[in-house]
Amino acid sequence: AAVAAPADNEPSVKVVVRVRPTVSRPVDGKDLWFVRKTAPESVAVGERSFAVDGVLDDRASQADAFDLVGLPMIENALAGFNTSLVCYGQSGTGKTYTMWGPLGAMVDSGSDHADRGVVPRVFQNLFSRIQRVQESSPEKQTSYQCRCSFLEVHNEQINDLLESSQRDLQIRENAGNGIHVENVTDEYVSTVDDINQLLMKGLSNRKIGTTSMNLKSSRSHVIFTCVIEAWSKSSANGFSSSRTSRITFVDLAGPENDELDGAKKHRTKEERHLKKSLSRLGKLVNILSETPESLKDDLPYEQSRLTHVLKDTLGGNSRVTFLCSISSEHRCRSGTLSTLRFGERAK
Ligand code: ADP
Ligand code: MG
Repeated sequence: AAVAAPADNEPSVKVVVRVRPTVSRPVDGKDLWFVRKTAPESVAVGERSFAVDGVLDDRASQADAFDLVGLPMIENALAGFNTSLVCYGQSGTGKTYTMWGPLGAMVDSGSDHADRGVVPRVFQNLFSRIQRVQESSPEKQTSYQCRCSFLEVHNEQINDLLESSQRDLQIRENAGNGIHVENVTDEYVSTVDDINQLLMKGLSNRKIGTTSMNLKSSRSHVIFTCVIEAWSKSSANGFSSSRTSRITFVDLAGPENDELDGAKKHRTKEERHLKKSLSRLGKLVNILSETPESLKDDLPYEQSRLTHVLKDTLGGNSRVTFLCSISSEHRCRSGTLSTLRFGERAK
């Protein structure tokens, strides 16, 4: 494509931490668990220090989050790489906020709403770059086509968030063509408004649970994928060639937050499935970090629906950013440490 990108020397896995601002002002300072950004690329929790690729502290804005994790994704995608953002962390720490932002901010796509999340910002930027490339390319030799799907993984079942009657979709894998979800709804998009409509529709179909801490605590993983096809026409012979790359956003359900929930709950089937899928993901991501590129296809992705459907996103020729979402509150400390350990193992 006509876009020069410095994406070639990007690492295949990046880990970024975002610290959520505290909700309640601590009365005597005891509620703070001293999460500190000690350098641009390290975060300390008490005595323990974690090396990462970037830190968004509790004063970071949504625009800062976009600059750190969103912009490189656009470069990667336009350079032909599959690229993804995976938000991981306890319920209530800001995964959904970082990724999509509040629904209200999404509807208002025309305005520069400060709360908009990484996803609407990525597409706004991507579409305006695509438009520039198409307009500046002589005789419209380069053109792009984008199509999106929106899935939910809940109770080891894959559901289509763009067509709520489509449940328990099956994963197909054909040699050379990678992972494919059978019968998934694909929608063509060309503007941020198109994206916002898909997001609103999909997010409102998402399974939610009720906990005392966060009435809309999400109990499913959601995966938003945009396939970008770049066509190049050669005016000499009219021959067209295309190159495909994918941008994927994964908003994981958090493990239940025992410290924050207050209300004690029984381990439901939903919780067991959720725990299992997250632990399989953690193990796989850990193995991936120690596996050479050429062997990445042969790992146990099929052990859970989540890891299976993400096979091409996590392995292969792809660039993944894990955004580890944490709270600096004392009562969240065990969840915070386990989220940071996940990030550490992923690198
Ligand atoms: P999660 O998806 O991890 O369960 P949410 O994104 O739903 O968490 O965040 C929980 C609440 O905290 C929401 O009301 C959200 O708007 C708010 N919130 C999270 N992160 C921030 C932030 N960085 N700045 C302001 N509000 C935030
Ligand atoms: Mg959420």
